[in-house]
Amino acid sequence: MNVRVRFAPSPTGYLHVGAARTALYNYLFARANGGTFILRSDDTDKERSTDEFQDDILAHMRWLGLQWDEGVEKGGEHGTYRQSDRYDRYREVAHDLIENGSAYYSFATPEQLEGFKAAAREGGRSPAYDGSLEPDPQDVASRIMEGAKVAVRFKVPRPGETRFTDVVRDEMVFDHKQVDDFIILRSDATPTYHLASTVDDVDYGITHVIRGEDLLSSTPKHILLTQAMGAEPATYAHLSLLMGPDGKKLSKRHGDTSMSAYREAGFLPEAVDNYLALLGWSLGDDVEIASLDEMIDKFDLSAVSKNPAVFDPRKLEWLNGVYIREMTDEVFVERTRSLVEDDLGRSLSGAEQVQFLEIAPLVKERTKLLPEVADQVRFLFTDIEGYDETSWSKVIEAPEAMVALDAAASALTELDPWTTESIETALRGMLEVTGLNARKGFQPVRVAISGSTVSPPLFESLKILGKSETLARLTKARTLL
Ligand code: GLU
Repeated sequence: MNVRVRFAPSPTGYLHVGAARTALYNYLFARANGGTFILRSDDTDKERSTDEFQDDILAHMRWLGLQWDEGVEKGGEHGTYRQSDRYDRYREVAHDLIENGSAYYSFATPEQLEGFKAAAREGGRSPAYDGSLEPDPQDVASRIMEGAKVAVRFKVPRPGETRFTDVVRDEMVFDHKQVDDFIILRSDATPTYHLASTVDDVDYGITHVIRGEDLLSSTPKHILLTQAMGAEPATYAHLSLLMGPDGKKLSKRHGDTSMSAYREAGFLPEAVDNYLALLGWSLGDDVEIASLDEMIDKFDLSAVSKNPAVFDPRKLEWLNGVYIREMTDEVFVERTRSLVEDDLGRSLSGAEQVQFLEIAPLVKERTKLLPEVADQVRFLFTDIEGYDETSWSKVIEAPEAMVALDAAASALTELDPWTTESIETALRGMLEVTGLNARKGFQPVRVAISGSTVSPPLFESLKILGKSETLARLTKARTLL
């Protein structure tokens, strides 16, 4: 079978982490089966759809490396892949369905429907609307001529049921008693989600619909519509929704839910992909780290869990740190240099790039999010004017600081060769001479050379900073006192 799947976001918001997981699963399934991954824009909600949201969704799909084969901006056999460009087609199908008896003109007003539902509940019947409020078929034409508001509804066969085997949730049965005769074309001739989505799925030859569990109750409607169009329903897979760490549906209350927030915070796309893949699917045998290619090799939709998955940003942060540590020093520098340069407001010189590469292994170990890199290496590339005030007053103004700075300067002045080991020996010797403990002796040196109490390990930092710059900074701190 030629697998064709689609990711169909509505551009009514930024790309949500849950939607990104849906996109990723579609992508993995397509790639694992040599299929086609389609990106469609469900932009029928004119009021709430914006170009900004659309651009955000596409940009983050690309950032995550989820390249689509057909669809919005990419093109393909089916035009723009935007639903707003296909209204004529949806109207055509609605009218075909009226013709073949699967749909009807509906004049029921919201008030009438409310009355219907209330009476059904009172009488112990199902409140699903069954079309019983509609005029006799021979009166329809004249009602339309009179200008009555008319929508088109799908006629759900009653009695009846719709069954399907969901790849994730197994056997599903929906008794039609629970399914309304739903609107497919509104009285302003705009299509509903059910109509537009189903027509597109049929027209685009979608073989597998992989989407969130929130759409599960729509699926019997889509299957009925598909059959009424004379087509074969797709295979459906409904993914469980993401939860926050407290077990409630993931929402803003839990923190950021837009992909852009994670990108800006300094997460790596490969770590995000990896983490999202693990939400509901396991790579097996305690494997937690895998590239997109490895995931494609192993992806199995039927192994996806129907249990809710917890989205935990702290776990994602941990995984991001793993990815950072696993980069080669060269790649690490390449991927973070622009952040460092933005922080400095200038480019790094050739010599500075060498220093950056030298300190990379130490910084990698201490970084979970990319922007933390700039904080750790800034001291190498800036004069220490802006000493971190609390560090300065707490450490440098402590009574022992002067002693420590003087002793460190004299221990290092004649030092040759300038290596991490020789620096360590010299500074440990300085502790003995002064009788200071490591904290009291080393912290002033650290603040003097880095401007702050947090920097990469001290001896390595001094080594990379170089002898003359180290001595100059010690002297400068000493004179400022
Ligand atoms: N546009 C729908 C949404 O964003 C998804 C439609 C579908 O996958 O069928 O929720």
